[in-house]
Amino acid sequence: MAMIQVDEARDIILSKIEPKGLEKVFIEEALGRVLAEDIIAGLNNPPMDNSAMDGYAVIAADIQSATPDNPVKLEVVDHVPAGSVAGVTLKNNQAIRIMTGGPIPPGSDAVLMQEDTDKNGGGILAKDKAEVGENIRLAGEDVKEGEVVIKKGVAITPAHIGMMAVVGRSSIYVGQRPTVAILSTGDEIVELDGTPTGPCIYNSNGYMLSAQIRSAGGIPCYMGVARDDEKDLMEKFDWALKCDIVVSSGGVSVGDYDLVKSTLDKLGNDMMFWKVAMKPGKPLAFGKIGEVPIFGLPGNPVSSFVSFEQFARPAIKKMMGARDIMLRTVQATLTRTVHKKTGRLHFMSAVISWDGNETTVAPAEEQGSGVLKSAVNANGLLVFPLEKDELKSGEQVTVQLLDV
Ligand code: AMP
Ligand code: MG
Repeated sequence: MAMIQVDEARDIILSKIEPKGLEKVFIEEALGRVLAEDIIAGLNNPPMDNSAMDGYAVIAADIQSATPDNPVKLEVVDHVPAGSVAGVTLKNNQAIRIMTGGPIPPGSDAVLMQEDTDKNGGGILAKDKAEVGENIRLAGEDVKEGEVVIKKGVAITPAHIGMMAVVGRSSIYVGQRPTVAILSTGDEIVELDGTPTGPCIYNSNGYMLSAQIRSAGGIPCYMGVARDDEKDLMEKFDWALKCDIVVSSGGVSVGDYDLVKSTLDKLGNDMMFWKVAMKPGKPLAFGKIGEVPIFGLPGNPVSSFVSFEQFARPAIKKMMGARDIMLRTVQATLTRTVHKKTGRLHFMSAVISWDGNETTVAPAEEQGSGVLKSAVNANGLLVFPLEKDELKSGEQVTVQLLDV
């Protein structure tokens, strides 16, 4: 098996991933999907100059001398709620009652907020001056006609959906979500409705991977467990190939019953088997059978988890047309010194927190590839570079964010 670095492996993988097609969805269904078109405003928002306050549209020059002790009397000549327009043009020493969002009446050049006025019969007393333009939101202040308001490739957030509605879009194009088959392998692996006797264990990877696929945006297709038997593996992989991507766990190491490699080798002529310079996770199979990318992840639960995040997640994201395909990273202050041997990049399960002054990261005490418990509390993966053997307490380090 060739030895390869994490970035190299990822680059090779991504070079073989093509985006899937598009589909149209209603914006109510668009949260978390990848936008496949630029959203361009077909109108100005707001459509016209309007009031930012409940108050009175005025001519600023009329009230330059106004103070609470020496207010200026203005006659109120009209009333403009949001959604209507003034019927008159404002003249000197007049005001028009206006509500937030109401269009600025012709003739006026400022809005005096209600709190700076007192009622005075049919008019008001202005108790403060106003600058020209005060409390006026200009037409197009939010969005200008023709402007690209959201760029394609983003993962759609609630604010994006709000903006789509601002410009009147009820449906949009998004990248199709790939279907991702999950195939667990191993004679010792038992289904959740079975009973693990003796040396057997439940199929935890299958369900964890299913959730990881979903959180990356893919559609998981649970394929159950294949025995360590080439015929069974062959049959189940054959089924799995009906999906857009296949992810398997186990059977890619150097053990006597690690038959996933030989099975994949027979099925495809474009398979690569690597030892990735990382921990946890070292053995990795990747290739394509026909058009379908296959990820043969290692079986140890934490290895499987971390390998998925490093290699399969970005591939799923790329298939959906996403611009940011990697886990986001933050810089954080390490809370304790950690050691390792040089030569492999370590991903350490870790807890990122905010201590009131700075972002800190506490690596879990136990980091074994079979100790899933360490990942249970983790919200990040500390990136411990390949060439380093120590990261000191208090150092700034890079952490991948696991929050979905
Ligand atoms: P393998 O890569 O097949 O040699 O598996 C490595 C380790 O991961 C073994 O201890 C397996 O029992 C364990 N393992 C493999 N597949 C799973 C799975 N689906 N769920 C939980 N543990 C697994
Ligand atoms: Mg196995």
